[in-house]
Formats: sequence, structure tokens, C-alpha cells
Amino acid sequence: MAYINEHFLKLKAGYLFPEIGRRVNEFTQANPDKAAGLIRCGIGDVTEALPEAVIEALHSAVDEMGNRETFRGYAPELGYDFLREAIAKHDYAARGMDISADEIIVSDGAKCDSANILDILGSQNRIAITDPVYPVYLDTNVMAGHTGPADDAGLFEGIIYLPCTDANAFVPAIPDEPADLIYLCYPNNPTGATATKAQLAAWVDYAKANGSIILYDAAYEAFIQDADMPHSIFEIEGARDCAIEFRSFSKNAGFTGTRCAFTVVPKGLTAKDAAGNDHPLHALWGRRVATKFNGTSYPIQRAAAAVYTEAGQAQVRALIDHYMGNAKILCEAAKAAGLEVFGGTNAPYIWVKTPNGAPSWDIFDKVLNEAAVVITPGAGFGTAGEGYFRISAFNSRANAEEVAKRIGAMAW
Ligand SMILES: *Cc1c(COP(=O)(O)O)cnc(C)c1O
Repeated sequence: MAYINEHFLKLKAGYLFPEIGRRVNEFTQANPDKAAGLIRCGIGDVTEALPEAVIEALHSAVDEMGNRETFRGYAPELGYDFLREAIAKHDYAARGMDISADEIIVSDGAKCDSANILDILGSQNRIAITDPVYPVYLDTNVMAGHTGPADDAGLFEGIIYLPCTDANAFVPAIPDEPADLIYLCYPNNPTGATATKAQLAAWVDYAKANGSIILYDAAYEAFIQDADMPHSIFEIEGARDCAIEFRSFSKNAGFTGTRCAFTVVPKGLTAKDAAGNDHPLHALWGRRVATKFNGTSYPIQRAAAAVYTEAGQAQVRALIDHYMGNAKILCEAAKAAGLEVFGGTNAPYIWVKTPNGAPSWDIFDKVLNEAAVVITPGAGFGTAGEGYFRISAFNSRANAEEVAKRIGAMAW
């Protein structure tokens, strides 16, 4: 007899993107003419080509692999030094942070890393998760058996939910109960909000006071436009003692289909065993990665390193400018249509309040049917996401302009 992991059965059957797909299919079948002009602003995936410096690095790394003299087999398990050193220098030292190359562990995705980190953390941890949220943090805790079942509202027993609404500018208040693991993501997917240094410092103080760990997802840091917004949790004093950071090349350099990311685990960061002894998490994560992962491929790590060359930096900046230009066009259109708009200034997501408190799936259907545009209903990201919808700025300029026009023409 073989048995399943029954915790999977607690997950909601209708996951967000399959449900969106189902409704879009229904629409295209019923309206073939309108469907020809369908524009997707739903899923958070990049649309523009990889930077030229990345393509050049890929080509030359592939040539190296085709020559016996320069061929490479298994990569170092935690990543090639050339990439780890480039990351330490450009993403951390250049911003005044003290993160060494060997604290950076290269992987093929921040999604996997933010999911897999649970392997090294105890199941007795109390988990705090923002609501709305990138679904990975919640679903992986459900899969690992860290929660009870979901209630009728979709809230899982045992999770400390941190509601993020316009009342708190989408940065959660410090809870009045202790949490051991806190997932934070800024700039935020889905709300497009950023957290200031003072707001993050309050979380670092809380984490240090409670012996908790902040799991900080900075996948969108490159989209920050305001000079004083923190790009990393490690810009906050004391964060080395209480935080792990996830970063990715997916959104800044367009690597969603290329796959490269990294996780920063400071050498001094510890967590306890049941007897109360401290253990360094860096060693545990290294052990986990070395056992379950055989490294990101050599050409891909060369491609990621090319992001840090002078040409690569300029090309990434141009990509960000392109998407943030779209964000501006979409924000302005939504505001001109009389909608209440958040985000979109330091992140590629625009978070819009539904008119008259309409349910977000109703607005999804309305925008699909009236404008042939796919947005994401806020309810799909959590209960506190109800009453909002997300417009993604990942698109061509022509599509962003067309979506802006259609939003303006709709009867809201
Ligand atoms: C897109 C995204 C990532 C990146 O994940 P990858 O696996 O590196 O592509 C991480 N976190 C959030 C919140 C995201 O939206």
C-alpha cells in the first residue's frame, strides 16, 4: 500500500491561474472576434527579450561546453565563485552591505528557494504570512503540514495572517503575538507596495526580540525608483542576525524562462533545536542544497554574471525603465477612469480598488468581457486581497497603451 501526503488535500482545488485560464477559454470560445484582441495583464511574467550582454555570455558559454578543453561538468553545488563574487560586489557591497560571496547560494529560482527553505526549519515554528500574498509561501507551509485545514473563508488554521490593505499602505502592523517565521516581500507582489527602512527596522526589532527569522523576498528590488527605499533587508541594522533573503534574475533581467536566482544566508544566523541549542542555518542550507540540487548550469550562471557587466547593467536598466514606463501609463489610465490606484511606482504591479467594493472576480469578468483584458482578481492572493485587482506592467509598450485606452473606455 502506498499513501499520499494528505496535507496536499487541504490546498484549495481551484488555484488562481487555472481558474483564470478556464474563464479566459470560456470567453475566447464564446467571443472569437473579441478574443483576437485579447491582452493578458494577468500572470506576472516578463515579455521582453533577454539583454544582449546575457545572450553573448550564453553563446560563449555554450561554445566552451562544446570544447573538451573548456568543457565543465557539475557546477560547484553552491554556485560558481565568479557569480557569487559579482553578486556580493554589485548587489551588496555597492550599497554598503556586508554580505560575503560565500553567504550567497546560487539556485535556479527564488520560487523553489522560498519553498525549499522549509526543509531546514522546524515544523513547530509559528508562521506569519501577509495577506494578500505570493501563494508559494502559504501553499508550501500547507504541503509541509504546518497548518490545519482552511475555513470557509479560505484561512488556514495555525497561520498568523498579516492583513495588508490601503489602511496600512500594504505594510503589515507588527502582530501582538510571537511568530517564529515571517514572510515579507518588498517591493510586493501583488500589491506593488514598498516598505521603508523604518518599517523594515520595526520588523527586524520584532524578529530579534522574539528570536524569529524574516524570510525576505526581494525579487522586485530592481524596480525601486525612490532613492531612499531599501533594496535588501540587509540594509537594516541587525538583519544579519534574523533574516534570509531571496533574490532572482527573473524579473530584472528577464530570466523567467532562463532560471537563475540566489539566497543569502548570513554565516552568523542561527535557529534552535528542541533542546535550545543554536545551529547556524548557513551550514544547514548548504547541506540541503548539496544533497537535493546539483547546481545551476554553467551557461546560465555565466548569463547571470553578465547582468553585472557595464553593458548588462545598462541593458537591465533599460528593461526596468520599459516596464516602469508601462506601469506609469496604466496607473494614469486607471486614475483617469476614477479608480483608486496603488503601487506601480516602485514595482511592476498596479493594485486597484474595485469600484463600489465589487467582488474582484466580478471585476475580472467585467474587464475580460468589456475590454478583452486579463487582470488578476485580488481575492486570488488571499482574503484581504478581496476588493482589489492587479494589473501587471509586464507587456509591450503597444499593449500597455492599448490596455490604458480600453480601461479609459470602460463604463466603470
Ligand atoms: C516572480 C517572483 C519570484 C521569482 O521566482 P523565480 O522562481 O526566481 O522565477 C519570486 N518571488 C515573487 C514574489 C515573485 O513574484
